[in-house]
Amino acid sequence: MMKAAAIITVSDSCFKDNLKDKSGPALLEFVRQNFPDANIYKIIIPDEKEIIEQELKYFCSSNINLILTTGGTGLGPRDVTPEATKAVIYKEIPAITTAMTIESLKKTPMAMLSRAVAGVRDRTLIINFPGSKKAVTECLEVVKDVLPHAISLINNELSEVRTMHDRMQVQHICGRNISSSVDISKVALRPRESPYQMLEMTEAFNLIDAVMMQWEEQVEVVPVENSVGRVVAQDIIAKEPMPPFPASVKDGYACLSLDGAGVRKVRAAVTAGETPLTPLLPGECARVNTGAPLPLGTDCVVQVEDTKLIKASADHKTELEIEVLVAPQPHQDVRAIGSDISVGSLLVEKGNVIDAAQIGVLAGAGYLNVPVMVYPKVAILSTGNELQEPTDEVLKPSHIRDSNRMMLKALFKEHGYDSVDCGIARDDPTELARALAGALARCDVLVCTGGVSMGDRDLLKPVLAKDFGAEIHFGRVRMKPGKPSTFATCRFQDKMKFIFALPGNPVSAYVCCLLFPVRALRQCTRRRGAFARCGVRLAHDVALDARPEYARAVLRWPRPDDLPHATLLGNQCSSRLLSACGAGALLELPPAAPGAAQLAAGSVVTALITGRFDLTTL
Ligand code: AMP
Ligand code: MG
Repeated sequence: MMKAAAIITVSDSCFKDNLKDKSGPALLEFVRQNFPDANIYKIIIPDEKEIIEQELKYFCSSNINLILTTGGTGLGPRDVTPEATKAVIYKEIPAITTAMTIESLKKTPMAMLSRAVAGVRDRTLIINFPGSKKAVTECLEVVKDVLPHAISLINNELSEVRTMHDRMQVQHICGRNISSSVDISKVALRPRESPYQMLEMTEAFNLIDAVMMQWEEQVEVVPVENSVGRVVAQDIIAKEPMPPFPASVKDGYACLSLDGAGVRKVRAAVTAGETPLTPLLPGECARVNTGAPLPLGTDCVVQVEDTKLIKASADHKTELEIEVLVAPQPHQDVRAIGSDISVGSLLVEKGNVIDAAQIGVLAGAGYLNVPVMVYPKVAILSTGNELQEPTDEVLKPSHIRDSNRMMLKALFKEHGYDSVDCGIARDDPTELARALAGALARCDVLVCTGGVSMGDRDLLKPVLAKDFGAEIHFGRVRMKPGKPSTFATCRFQDKMKFIFALPGNPVSAYVCCLLFPVRALRQCTRRRGAFARCGVRLAHDVALDARPEYARAVLRWPRPDDLPHATLLGNQCSSRLLSACGAGALLELPPAAPGAAQLAAGSVVTALITGRFDLTTL
């Protein structure tokens, strides 16, 4: 981000003779207009190499992002700005000045005589401009589009660099600079009623489910250890029995049950992991511990607690005879081959979300890899002229920090999905179209927030429809919060893209993200069940809205013989995100009906379990 710039006029006559500086102010005006938030410093100095170098170095060491000089680039004996600049820069960027020269040559062959230099010292970009105001203005036109990106690159601002690369990629792919065909000049002609039909929630869900079926199922194979939380793409069948040999359940003696109770000769000792070599004969037994294989000839295990030592070697290192106190049953305390898992049985079913126990089962069954559903790639884009990066230290007047992008990224993560951050788009048709193109190029499912209601700067729907030929499947839903929620699809770069354009208010964005894209991802990756739903009892009276409402609540479970109790998280207005913090559930409140404007404490409503199901027991 451009924070500060310096303008240096290098001119003996301006410095000494008080000649009016014309090109310096032109540079100043340019920086003011293009970087309205930057602090700008402007000085006039003589054509002295040492002084120029000294000033350049001073500004470079003062967190200045950009230094523009004017003057001293020609062939006069005192013209030394390029020499001074060369002496301080670490990297030269010759194409900047070449581009300026090419442009100037179109106007005058004198441009051949300019020797301007551009380059980088530390984190500062330095560009020499010629001395005349006209030439400065022409050259500024040439460099103006690359300056922000160059500054981001120099400062290693990865997200801005990435956004720019995406946009360049899109422009490259589309072979043109995208510009929107949406006209916002006639604000008085904007519709005063939404042209979109209001859908009921079930209609919206059904539509999304039907459209998302067009997402082509894809499978990838991942190492079992990385598969937790993934959706299994096909039934996985046991190819080996578990256990693979008859195994002892106890520490004791493997015996022949036919021998009944009485004294046995201890022929061998088998610990888990060893293979017994000798088959046993009647009257013999083998000392075994838990998990050890039974020697051939034996069919039961007698636990050590049910035996008595009869005879041991003189050094007590070997048991020679024991007495079995209780007659054993055949198969007693033996896990038969395949008794836990038989060959061909179902280990994990298609659609299961792999948990730790299933990873254990798969690891135990010799599966190194597991086929899982590929999730659609999700991208998140915020829109709004008022938005600043959350990382910005200082808020500009009338601005707010973008809370939605980070929140939605985290929300997707909570539900097991990765997403890419596509930044903030301004409420300008062309800027929005470019940002949308950049985001669509990076995803299958685009989730954007803001710009979908009735304001004159709510441009998402017209830009999607006009510039991307998107089909708007719905643009209004009878719900609170989130009435203007929008779902659209379009083909972009030969692929189907699914677009969820959610209202910008953070609570609306949160609730609608859960109900629409998160739910849609769960459905289209064939994950069993969307959100769990259960009955809950209201802990207090709740006023009802004219629209069905999704109220954020915590659930407590004061009495095991009753339903969980739901307490709303304070004021439910759609800008107050605190009402979603710690919410374990969205209550599905019915719309108010004549004579039923509220639900009394103790009423039962259904709740979608969207958060962690950590019921608090009072
Ligand atoms: P919109 O949906 O664009 O009409 O915005 C509705 C309200 O949500 C306005 O008050 C916006 O300032 C606010 N808003 C929009 N986007 C965001 C965001 N990314 N983070 C925080 N607030 C937002
Ligand atoms: Mg907006």
